[in-house]
Amino acid sequence: MSTFKAPKGTYDLLPPDSATYLAVRDAIATPLRNSGYGYVETPGFENVELFARGVGESTDIVNKEMYAFTTRGGDQLALRPEGTASVLRAALEGNLHKSGNLPVKLWYSGSYYRYERPQKGRYRHFSQVGAEAIGAEDPALDAELIILADQAYRALGLKEFRILLNSLGDKECRPVYRAALQDFLRGLDLDEETRRRIDINPLRVLDDKRAEVQKQLVGAPMLRDYLCDACKDYHEQVRELLTAQGVRYEDDPKLVRGLDYYTRTTFEFVHDGLGSQSAVGGGGRYDGLSEMIGGPALPSVGWALGVDRTVLALQAEGITLDLPAATSVFAVPLGDEARRVLFAKVTELRRAGIAADFSYGGKGLKGAMKNANRSGARYAVVAGERDLAEGVVQLKDMESGEQEALAVEEFVAVLKEKLKRA
Ligand code: AMP
Repeated sequence: MSTFKAPKGTYDLLPPDSATYLAVRDAIATPLRNSGYGYVETPGFENVELFARGVGESTDIVNKEMYAFTTRGGDQLALRPEGTASVLRAALEGNLHKSGNLPVKLWYSGSYYRYERPQKGRYRHFSQVGAEAIGAEDPALDAELIILADQAYRALGLKEFRILLNSLGDKECRPVYRAALQDFLRGLDLDEETRRRIDINPLRVLDDKRAEVQKQLVGAPMLRDYLCDACKDYHEQVRELLTAQGVRYEDDPKLVRGLDYYTRTTFEFVHDGLGSQSAVGGGGRYDGLSEMIGGPALPSVGWALGVDRTVLALQAEGITLDLPAATSVFAVPLGDEARRVLFAKVTELRRAGIAADFSYGGKGLKGAMKNANRSGARYAVVAGERDLAEGVVQLKDMESGEQEALAVEEFVAVLKEKLKRA
């Protein structure tokens, strides 16, 4: 071990486990790519103001958890704590919304940073795959996103997840509800900080996990009783579309989520095998966000799924992904002449798109075969002086243990055939 360790709240992805992370990212991205979403990548840091205005000044994410810093040049930046504000900023800056082709559908994958108290499933550096559909107000778009996340989780084999669904109303009906909720909350026995929250962001109080707070919230006014007709109708359409596609969800009238920008549809994917950090992903509609960051009115909807927690969910369900072995052919040269010949063959195999590896470091047969085994390769190619004198290499099937001699000139073609059939 070196003198250094990964910083608190972070961990490294190392082989072989890292392959599962790649596969999870891929499984989430595949349905998006297949549904008109284009890939977007934004910087790991942004102007701190973007998150303050976008995510919300009163949120824990901005107030307590952001890695904000001043650069040597005096710029106020922050490591990105979430993806939506950055992606919307990038779409506006790149004028994607002016292409006349709305909604702009984008997906992304990357690292996010929050200064949280680390525990299982909660890290200071984590990874998300997300999707945003910008510039259209259409319940089918909300439904599409929920269906695609559901499809991704099912493709991974996950079963014990649930979809929680709610509507947060819009700028017509939410203020009326907000005032009613504030009236109710002001009559409760709450600590100083929570009382402050009543003024700034009363909906978040509903999200308080503490039992003594939850107990008092029984009888609190519910947003669904205040939704205007337009919001009610919109929400009903989202629900109907999901039901018609066979996607099961639960209505959760208390779901508010930790970001200020949500309007109307909000949802969370929770997994029952994860303990306290049970949210594997979430999202919703954010019709006002574009204007909040200085853009035009662009009603939009999106989600982000956490890769780390999705991997934990796989573990909780005992699911091992069926990942193909990284290496198909492992070359074991015995002697200098064999090294030259097999190194050339390995290069040829790789150029032909066959995953091949080579025994480096001048190992003997026993050590090299151990490496061949560990590589997971289906075939080992062994050659010594005597084989080469006869113009052959030995091809060993690592599954059956059978071995056959193949002409040096032919074996790449033969291997291609065999691997095609395998
Ligand atoms: P949020 O932006 O808070 O809705 O987060 C979306 C998803 O990202 C969550 O459901 C988690 O799967 C994941 N996530 C958020 N924060 C963390 C964290 N500190 N550590 C690991 N995963 C996280």
